[in-house]
Amino acid sequence: MRQRRANTGRRRTSFATLKGMQEFNGRSIWAVGRNYGAHAKELGNEVPDSPMIFLKSGATAVPAGVVQLPDFSSDVHHEVELALRFGADFQFDAVGVALDLTARDLQNVLKEKKHPWTLAKSFRGSCPLSGFRPIQLERNQQFRVQLWINDVLRQDGHTKDLIFQPEVLREHVLRHFPVEPGDVLLTGTPSGVAKLEPGDRARARVTLNASWTVEAEWSFT
Ligand code: ZN
Repeated sequence: MRQRRANTGRRRTSFATLKGMQEFNGRSIWAVGRNYGAHAKELGNEVPDSPMIFLKSGATAVPAGVVQLPDFSSDVHHEVELALRFGADFQFDAVGVALDLTARDLQNVLKEKKHPWTLAKSFRGSCPLSGFRPIQLERNQQFRVQLWINDVLRQDGHTKDLIFQPEVLREHVLRHFPVEPGDVLLTGTPSGVAKLEPGDRARARVTLNASWTVEAEWSFT
């Protein structure tokens, strides 16, 4: 365990819930906004003409288990997302599922002031993140991304509907940012984002086919 992690004061639980899953041990979580047209519209945003990247600190990651909602927001939204891990050669080498938690009330104020989104996107506990399942991605391989809140399906998307496909995002991020092996790319959320309440349970799943899934569960306090 690196010193950096020991300093977070967090109880160490495992990111890897299924056999063969690997823990997240990256430094940065690179995320993209408005990458599904239907989600951009539900928030009244324009569809961007180049990827809109923001950063969530790697220390925001929370393995399956309990997530504490921040006391400085009263409108934290779930955004379920396909998470792709950068391997040693900077190709994607594993798949996970994430909740890009967003303090929507704060984000709306920040947007209005034209301020950065860090407070709304990178607060403590803002990235529930599953373990990673190794895979050799084939070009244009597509995934289904789903989220149940209290056993009700609330988000259900498919990466074929991404405005910028993972390969485009990968090249864009590598060109501009100091990506390191083990870092993760979040690929954007489908429509259906909504407020989380204390006591809610979330089950997130990424599916490639009937026998290839990644899943994780969290509860919120
Ligand atoms: Zn997001």
